Amino acid sequence: MKHYNIFQNANYIYSQANSFNKKYKYKLAITLILKLIIPIIATFIPTIVVYLIVNNFKINIFVLLIGIVVLIYAILNYINTYLSLSVDIESTFIRSKRFFELLCDKSRTTGYENIEFEDGREKMMKAFGAINSNWVGVELHLKTFPTFIISFVGLLLYSSYIVSINFSIVIVLLGMTLLNFLLNIYARKYEKKTEKILNSHRTKLTYFQEEANKLTNAKDIKIYKLETMFYKGIKLFTKKYSKTITKQKFRYYFANFSDSIFSIFRDILAYTILVTMVFDGVIDVTQFTFMIGIIVGYSVWLNQFSNSFGRLKEANISINNFRDYILLDDRINMEDGDDIEQFKNKKITIEFKNVSYKYPMTEKPVISNFNLKIDGGEKLALVGLNGAGKTTLVKLLTGLYQPLEGEILINGISSTNFNIYEYYNLFGVVFQDINIFSFTIAQNISGKSDEDTDFKRIEYVLEKAGLKEKIEMLPQKENTYLTQEIDEDGILLSGGQLQKLMLARALYKDAPVLILDEPTSALDPLAEQELYLKYHALTESKTSIFISHKLSSTQFCNKILYLEDGKIIEEGTHKELMDKKGKYSKMFAIQSQYYKKDNKEGKVDEQTILF
Ligand code: ADP
Repeated sequence: MKHYNIFQNANYIYSQANSFNKKYKYKLAITLILKLIIPIIATFIPTIVVYLIVNNFKINIFVLLIGIVVLIYAILNYINTYLSLSVDIESTFIRSKRFFELLCDKSRTTGYENIEFEDGREKMMKAFGAINSNWVGVELHLKTFPTFIISFVGLLLYSSYIVSINFSIVIVLLGMTLLNFLLNIYARKYEKKTEKILNSHRTKLTYFQEEANKLTNAKDIKIYKLETMFYKGIKLFTKKYSKTITKQKFRYYFANFSDSIFSIFRDILAYTILVTMVFDGVIDVTQFTFMIGIIVGYSVWLNQFSNSFGRLKEANISINNFRDYILLDDRINMEDGDDIEQFKNKKITIEFKNVSYKYPMTEKPVISNFNLKIDGGEKLALVGLNGAGKTTLVKLLTGLYQPLEGEILINGISSTNFNIYEYYNLFGVVFQDINIFSFTIAQNISGKSDEDTDFKRIEYVLEKAGLKEKIEMLPQKENTYLTQEIDEDGILLSGGQLQKLMLARALYKDAPVLILDEPTSALDPLAEQELYLKYHALTESKTSIFISHKLSSTQFCNKILYLEDGKIIEEGTHKELMDKKGKYSKMFAIQSQYYKKDNKEGKVDEQTILF
């Protein structure tokens, strides 16, 4: 992770701010000047008053002069308050619009691996932490950086004057501020040290809260009485989370408390030295008033400087997290790539060439030096036990994962040559896990709003997927909402119906490659048989991959690959593999026993198994 310093982050944030709002910098420049001038005038006002009294100025001149100074001061203060408020509001917009947009763009476009794996998700959460409220990360920086700059200039001006009166005051004041600053650093270091623990508690707490809230979990929670498990989980991690936060905050309170004590010392010291100077006749009352003003002002600058520096350092951690996520390697091609349209109405040949892949958490590659050629229009079945690597291969092929070594060729062109979003157009996939959204049935299938949905096609794919009858019976037909989150008249579909809906979605996309990953797991035997019978019609001229660990379900494919530990163990048609009497045929025999009604002799009846 690259660590940018406060100034580098200021450059980054203000250039983003400028691209969002061109007027921001002008308002900011004026407030900077006002924030410097106003305290200086405030320091001078008591001195002018004392000077006029001591020198016996006439009352009307006294009132006029003081009136003018106070009026100027009031006007400047009013402008400053107005502009500061306006700058503050703009800062909130810059954070909540510009930076939120940056985060959304990144999350929307980043590679799937960054979303699926913990590392990417954690980085996203941390990046969100830089923009999710007014007093953190980006907005904290926007609100604090001007004070930091102004207080530094103020410090330079005032300290050069104080040094000319008494060098030791500057040293003592600096020493106290430094001590306070170190206490703040200690608090921040502790916060940073415990950040990982805090995040881990937060993630676990969120997990329990979200899972407890999911409607899909409600059945299991009720039947298996899991409420207590969730309750205990939420209670435990809330406690751990609060304990860590309290420890962090305590260190800040301590630093703040010491600051109050130091400011009392500061005042005692300044008054002692200056009063002694008045008694010794070194300075007169006017100078005393001015110097007190300068010393108090100096303390204020010093306080503002150290506070704003502390806050900027705090903001810097979050901003670096934010930039770390924005710059996270996407491992995908988002540039303009080769033209994907060239494959329209063409058969797609797929070739895995020496492909290797390893999950971030696994030691060994799950797929190693994998080679496979799938001809255009071929109907390939991938079979094998759970964990054989079937889904990993699909995710690699569809561009969700990127090979660590080797390449995947589409009609001879490397998959990385295509823009990833155009590349996704090549595949219609029915994944094992079903994900529907609280949209209408038609919208779930087309993935688009009604205006952009082809309803004739919806009807066609519903029929092909075997859902037409069911949908026709609904009063709103394909415009019926699924689930009741958005529309209270929404319906719930059974597991098998949802699987058919996912098939309809893949068919609607009409992509040249169709991939069905365990598409029959929730189907009843009749629906399963119907799907097998229709398989050729569904896949038409497409290249298709049918994944299953049920060996009996793949005989209608041209070629079957039997996978184990990410390797092709056997390859051929069903008959070839059965004749081979290897792992496939053994596994087939084992699985088929469960289907046979009368299996006294242990004979395998393939027809019974299939249909
Ligand atoms: P299949 O689809 O054949 O059941 P997978 O492709 O899902 O097999 O899994 C292949 C191997 O990769 C298994 O050993 C599995 O444990 C591992 N694996 C799958 N997904 C992940 C993941 N997200 N993180 C770590 N290992 C994984």
